[in-house]
Amino acid sequence: MFGASSATAVATAWWSASGPSTPLAVGFALVIAAAAWRHGSLRLSGAIAATVVGTLALRAGWSWGGYLIFWFAWATLGSRLGRARKDARTAGVVAKGAQRDASQVVANGGVFALAAAMVVTTGDAASNTALWGAAALAAAGADTMATEIGTWVGRPPRSVGTWREVPTGTSGAVSVAGSAAMFGSALVLTAVAVAFGLVPAARWWVVALAAVFGAVVDTVVGALAQEQRWCPSCATATEQWQHNCGTDTRHRAGWRWLGNDAVNLVCTASAAALAWLVA
Ligand SMILES: [Zn+2]
Repeated sequence: MFGASSATAVATAWWSASGPSTPLAVGFALVIAAAAWRHGSLRLSGAIAATVVGTLALRAGWSWGGYLIFWFAWATLGSRLGRARKDARTAGVVAKGAQRDASQVVANGGVFALAAAMVVTTGDAASNTALWGAAALAAAGADTMATEIGTWVGRPPRSVGTWREVPTGTSGAVSVAGSAAMFGSALVLTAVAVAFGLVPAARWWVVALAAVFGAVVDTVVGALAQEQRWCPSCATATEQWQHNCGTDTRHRAGWRWLGNDAVNLVCTASAAALAWLVA
Protein backbone atom coordinates (compact mmCIF):
# COMPACT_ATOMS: atom_id res chain seq x y z
CA MET A 1 0.00 0.00 0.00
CA PHE A 2 1.39 3.36 -1.02
CA GLY A 3 -0.97 5.79 0.69
CA ALA A 4 -1.01 9.54 0.78
CA SER A 5 0.91 9.64 4.05
CA SER A 6 3.81 7.55 2.77
CA ALA A 7 3.88 9.59 -0.44
CA THR A 8 4.12 12.71 1.72
CA ALA A 9 6.88 11.07 3.78
CA VAL A 10 8.87 10.24 0.65
CA ALA A 11 8.43 13.76 -0.74
CA THR A 12 9.40 15.29 2.59
CA ALA A 13 12.47 13.08 2.88
CA TRP A 14 13.57 14.02 -0.61
CA TRP A 15 13.12 17.73 -0.07
CA SER A 16 14.72 17.55 3.37
CA ALA A 17 17.69 15.59 2.10
CA SER A 18 20.90 17.57 2.22
CA GLY A 19 21.05 19.94 -0.69
CA PRO A 20 23.36 20.03 -3.70
CA SER A 21 27.14 20.03 -3.46
CA THR A 22 28.76 23.41 -2.83
CA PRO A 23 29.79 24.13 -6.47
CA LEU A 24 26.28 23.28 -7.67
CA ALA A 25 24.72 25.38 -4.90
CA VAL A 26 26.94 28.37 -5.81
CA GLY A 27 26.05 27.88 -9.48
CA PHE A 28 22.31 27.75 -8.80
CA ALA A 29 22.40 30.81 -6.52
CA LEU A 30 24.59 32.73 -8.96
CA VAL A 31 22.28 32.07 -11.93
CA ILE A 32 19.18 33.23 -10.01
CA ALA A 33 20.90 36.29 -8.52
CA ALA A 34 22.34 37.26 -11.92
CA ALA A 35 18.90 36.96 -13.54
CA ALA A 36 17.40 39.15 -10.80
CA TRP A 37 20.19 41.70 -11.30
CA ARG A 38 19.60 41.75 -15.08
CA HIS A 39 15.86 42.23 -14.58
CA GLY A 40 16.45 45.10 -12.17
CA SER A 41 15.19 43.41 -8.97
CA LEU A 42 18.64 43.55 -7.36
CA ARG A 43 21.53 45.97 -7.47
CA LEU A 44 24.99 44.44 -7.97
CA SER A 45 25.69 44.47 -4.20
CA GLY A 46 22.28 42.89 -3.62
CA ALA A 47 23.02 40.15 -6.16
CA ILE A 48 26.32 39.34 -4.43
CA ALA A 49 24.61 39.15 -1.02
CA ALA A 50 21.77 37.07 -2.51
CA THR A 51 24.31 34.61 -3.95
CA VAL A 52 25.73 34.06 -0.44
CA VAL A 53 22.25 33.66 1.12
CA GLY A 54 21.14 31.36 -1.71
CA THR A 55 24.25 29.17 -1.47
CA LEU A 56 23.79 28.72 2.29
CA ALA A 57 20.09 27.87 1.82
CA LEU A 58 20.76 25.30 -0.92
CA ARG A 59 23.57 23.71 1.11
CA ALA A 60 21.17 23.42 4.07
CA GLY A 61 18.79 21.42 1.86
CA TRP A 62 16.53 21.55 -1.16
CA SER A 63 13.64 22.47 1.12
CA TRP A 64 15.54 25.57 2.30
CA GLY A 65 16.58 26.51 -1.23
CA GLY A 66 13.10 25.94 -2.66
CA TYR A 67 11.50 28.04 0.07
CA LEU A 68 13.99 30.88 -0.50
CA ILE A 69 13.46 30.82 -4.27
CA PHE A 70 9.69 30.94 -3.81
CA TRP A 71 10.09 33.80 -1.32
CA PHE A 72 12.16 35.76 -3.82
CA ALA A 73 9.63 35.16 -6.63
CA TRP A 74 6.84 36.22 -4.25
CA ALA A 75 8.62 39.44 -3.22
CA THR A 76 9.48 40.21 -6.86
CA LEU A 77 5.83 39.72 -7.86
CA GLY A 78 4.85 42.11 -5.07
CA SER A 79 7.25 44.80 -6.24
CA ARG A 80 6.12 44.45 -9.89
CA LEU A 81 2.40 44.84 -9.11
CA GLY A 82 1.36 48.36 -10.00
CA ARG A 83 4.94 49.60 -9.94
CA ALA A 84 4.31 52.83 -11.85
CA ARG A 85 1.50 53.83 -9.52
CA LYS A 86 3.56 52.94 -6.41
CA ASP A 87 6.60 54.86 -7.66
CA ALA A 88 4.43 57.91 -8.23
CA ARG A 89 2.76 57.66 -4.82
CA THR A 90 5.95 57.11 -2.80
CA ALA A 91 8.54 59.04 -4.86
CA GLY A 92 9.14 61.68 -2.20
CA VAL A 93 8.89 59.37 0.83
CA VAL A 94 10.77 56.06 0.59
CA ALA A 95 14.56 56.02 0.90
CA LYS A 96 15.23 53.28 -1.64
CA GLY A 97 13.62 52.11 -4.87
CA ALA A 98 12.55 48.64 -5.97
CA GLN A 99 16.12 47.49 -6.71
CA ARG A 100 17.33 45.79 -3.53
CA ASP A 101 20.90 46.38 -2.38
CA ALA A 102 23.08 44.26 -0.09
CA SER A 103 21.87 45.77 3.18
CA GLN A 104 18.24 45.14 2.16
CA VAL A 105 19.07 41.52 1.29
CA VAL A 106 20.78 41.05 4.68
CA ALA A 107 17.92 42.82 6.50
CA ASN A 108 15.38 40.45 4.91
CA GLY A 109 17.39 37.24 4.52
CA GLY A 110 20.22 37.49 7.08
CA VAL A 111 18.48 35.67 9.94
CA PHE A 112 17.27 32.94 7.55
CA ALA A 113 20.83 32.62 6.19
CA LEU A 114 22.14 32.33 9.76
CA ALA A 115 19.73 29.45 10.42
CA ALA A 116 20.80 27.78 7.15
CA ALA A 117 24.47 28.23 8.08
CA MET A 118 23.82 26.56 11.46
CA VAL A 119 22.23 23.57 9.72
CA VAL A 120 25.13 23.38 7.24
CA THR A 121 27.79 23.49 9.96
CA THR A 122 26.08 21.21 12.50
CA GLY A 123 24.37 18.92 9.99
CA ASP A 124 21.38 19.05 12.32
CA ALA A 125 18.27 19.38 10.16
CA ALA A 126 15.88 17.96 12.73
CA SER A 127 16.01 20.72 15.31
CA ASN A 128 13.89 23.84 15.57
CA THR A 129 16.39 25.82 13.51
CA ALA A 130 14.25 25.43 10.38
CA LEU A 131 11.24 26.71 12.32
CA TRP A 132 12.80 30.01 13.36
CA GLY A 133 14.62 30.39 10.05
CA ALA A 134 11.38 29.93 8.12
CA ALA A 135 9.59 32.32 10.49
CA ALA A 136 12.20 35.04 9.91
CA LEU A 137 11.81 34.87 6.14
CA ALA A 138 8.00 34.63 6.36
CA ALA A 139 7.99 37.80 8.50
CA ALA A 140 10.15 39.62 5.94
CA GLY A 141 7.76 38.48 3.19
CA ALA A 142 4.66 39.50 5.15
CA ASP A 143 6.13 42.94 5.81
CA THR A 144 7.29 43.32 2.20
CA MET A 145 3.89 42.38 0.77
CA ALA A 146 2.09 44.67 3.22
CA THR A 147 4.16 47.57 1.89
CA GLU A 148 3.84 46.57 -1.78
CA ILE A 149 0.05 46.06 -1.71
CA GLY A 150 -0.61 48.89 0.74
CA THR A 151 1.25 51.47 -1.34
CA TRP A 152 -0.38 50.16 -4.53
CA VAL A 153 -4.10 49.95 -3.67
CA GLY A 154 -4.33 51.15 -0.08
CA ARG A 155 -5.83 54.41 1.08
CA PRO A 156 -3.39 56.84 2.73
CA PRO A 157 -2.17 54.90 5.79
CA ARG A 158 -2.35 55.92 9.43
CA SER A 159 0.68 55.98 11.72
CA VAL A 160 0.34 53.45 14.55
CA GLY A 161 2.09 56.03 16.76
CA THR A 162 -0.32 58.94 16.31
CA TRP A 163 -3.19 57.39 14.29
CA ARG A 164 -2.94 60.37 11.94
CA GLU A 165 -3.00 59.95 8.17
CA VAL A 166 0.53 60.05 6.77
CA PRO A 167 1.87 60.01 3.18
CA THR A 168 1.68 56.64 1.39
CA GLY A 169 4.94 54.73 1.86
CA THR A 170 5.69 56.08 5.35
CA SER A 171 7.20 53.48 7.70
CA GLY A 172 5.16 52.47 10.74
CA ALA A 173 1.83 53.25 9.09
CA VAL A 174 -0.98 50.83 8.33
CA SER A 175 -3.88 50.55 5.89
CA VAL A 176 -6.62 47.92 5.57
CA ALA A 177 -5.20 46.68 2.24
CA GLY A 178 -1.66 46.49 3.61
CA SER A 179 -2.76 44.62 6.74
CA ALA A 180 -4.78 42.11 4.70
CA ALA A 181 -1.74 41.56 2.47
CA MET A 182 0.43 41.07 5.56
CA PHE A 183 -1.79 38.30 6.97
CA GLY A 184 -2.27 36.70 3.53
CA SER A 185 1.45 36.72 2.77
CA ALA A 186 2.30 35.22 6.19
CA LEU A 187 -0.13 32.35 5.48
CA VAL A 188 1.07 31.77 1.90
CA LEU A 189 4.73 31.65 2.95
CA THR A 190 3.92 29.35 5.88
CA ALA A 191 2.03 27.01 3.53
CA VAL A 192 4.99 26.97 1.14
CA ALA A 193 7.43 26.20 3.99
CA VAL A 194 5.19 23.25 4.93
CA ALA A 195 4.79 22.14 1.30
CA PHE A 196 8.57 22.06 0.84
CA GLY A 197 8.95 20.02 4.02
CA LEU A 198 10.95 22.74 5.76
CA VAL A 199 8.38 22.98 8.55
CA PRO A 200 6.30 20.07 9.93
CA ALA A 201 2.61 20.54 9.09
CA ALA A 202 1.71 20.29 12.79
CA ARG A 203 3.91 23.33 13.56
CA TRP A 204 2.58 25.61 10.80
CA TRP A 205 0.98 27.90 13.36
CA VAL A 206 4.34 28.66 15.00
CA VAL A 207 5.67 30.04 11.72
CA ALA A 208 2.47 31.94 10.88
CA LEU A 209 2.18 33.44 14.36
CA ALA A 210 5.85 34.45 14.45
CA ALA A 211 5.65 35.97 10.94
CA VAL A 212 2.69 38.15 11.90
CA PHE A 213 4.42 39.08 15.17
CA GLY A 214 7.55 40.14 13.30
CA ALA A 215 5.56 42.26 10.85
CA VAL A 216 3.70 43.95 13.73
CA VAL A 217 6.99 44.63 15.54
CA ASP A 218 8.31 46.11 12.29
CA THR A 219 5.36 48.48 12.08
CA VAL A 220 5.52 49.56 15.74
CA VAL A 221 9.30 50.10 15.68
CA GLY A 222 8.90 51.86 12.32
CA ALA A 223 6.40 54.27 13.85
CA LEU A 224 8.02 54.90 17.23
CA ALA A 225 11.78 54.53 16.79
CA GLN A 226 12.71 54.70 13.10
CA GLU A 227 14.41 57.87 11.98
CA GLN A 228 12.03 60.37 10.42
CA ARG A 229 13.36 63.17 8.25
CA TRP A 230 11.90 66.43 7.03
CA CYS A 231 12.26 68.37 3.79
CA PRO A 232 12.21 72.10 4.64
CA SER A 233 11.54 73.14 1.02
CA CYS A 234 8.48 70.94 0.55
CA ALA A 235 7.46 70.97 4.24
CA THR A 236 6.92 67.24 4.09
CA ALA A 237 8.03 64.14 5.98
CA THR A 238 10.35 61.73 4.15
CA GLU A 239 12.85 58.92 4.73
CA GLN A 240 15.27 60.29 2.13
CA TRP A 241 18.54 62.00 3.18
CA GLN A 242 18.31 64.12 0.07
CA HIS A 243 14.72 64.73 -0.91
CA ASN A 244 13.68 64.02 -4.49
CA CYS A 245 13.34 67.81 -4.93
CA GLY A 246 17.14 68.08 -4.41
CA THR A 247 17.05 69.59 -0.91
CA ASP A 248 19.04 67.99 1.93
CA THR A 249 16.57 66.83 4.56
CA ARG A 250 17.00 67.13 8.32
CA HIS A 251 16.41 64.76 11.21
CA ARG A 252 13.01 65.25 12.80
CA ALA A 253 12.29 62.31 15.09
CA GLY A 254 13.38 58.80 15.99
CA TRP A 255 16.82 57.28 16.38
CA ARG A 256 19.30 58.61 13.85
CA TRP A 257 20.93 55.27 13.05
CA LEU A 258 17.66 53.35 12.80
CA GLY A 259 16.78 53.26 9.10
CA ASN A 260 14.41 51.00 7.20
CA ASP A 261 16.94 48.18 6.81
CA ALA A 262 17.68 48.07 10.55
CA VAL A 263 13.94 47.95 11.26
CA ASN A 264 13.56 45.03 8.83
CA LEU A 265 16.36 43.21 10.64
CA VAL A 266 14.47 43.78 13.92
CA CYS A 267 11.35 42.38 12.20
CA THR A 268 13.02 39.13 11.11
CA ALA A 269 14.97 38.73 14.38
CA SER A 270 11.87 39.18 16.52
CA ALA A 271 9.94 36.63 14.42
CA ALA A 272 12.80 34.15 14.83
CA ALA A 273 12.96 34.83 18.58
CA LEU A 274 9.23 34.22 19.05
CA ALA A 275 9.30 31.00 16.97
CA TRP A 276 12.29 29.81 18.98
CA LEU A 277 10.56 30.60 22.29
CA VAL A 278 7.26 28.96 21.30
CA ALA A 279 9.01 25.91 19.81
ZN1 LIG B 1 11.64 68.47 -0.92
